[in-house]
Amino acid sequence: MSPDGSISFGSTLSVTMRCPLCATEDTKVIDSRPAENGGAIRRRRECLVCGERFTTFERPVIVATVVKRSGRNEAFDREKIRRGLEFALADRPVPEGTVDDIVVRIEASARAGSAHVTSQELGKAVLAELRDVDEVAYLRFASVYKDFQGASDFEREAAALEQRNNGASVS
Ligand SMILES: [Zn+2]
Repeated sequence: MSPDGSISFGSTLSVTMRCPLCATEDTKVIDSRPAENGGAIRRRRECLVCGERFTTFERPVIVATVVKRSGRNEAFDREKIRRGLEFALADRPVPEGTVDDIVVRIEASARAGSAHVTSQELGKAVLAELRDVDEVAYLRFASVYKDFQGASDFEREAAALEQRNNGASVS
């Protein structure tokens, strides 16, 4: 602690990171450069004991808040979105990485809305993504999200989907 009360990390203002190989805390940054279009910083580090070189990424942490139907708030849960998508897309012929891509876009849009999003908005965003990717996956997700009660709900949704597709091909 310095006289003015602030905590000093030394002249470089950097804290050390443990070596992943030998676990010493004696490591240093040997290179820093922007990554992910400036959204992150990639650092190369070197262990001063065993010489191991490793990479770390520094990214801003912005946690979106999801407002539930009940009015309660909870932190945006990437894994929950992922599970919903994996359920909907199970065994569907979609390119590898589709789930990851959608999760990234959904999370980005959740953060963009001043970091507050309702669970309904999230559900609609997932449906909008799936509608463009795979109709079966869309219907699977809709059946859970919209709480389908029977076959007629499926037929109604499928008809709406078809109508939209026909409309899209005309325009
Ligand atoms: Zn080491």
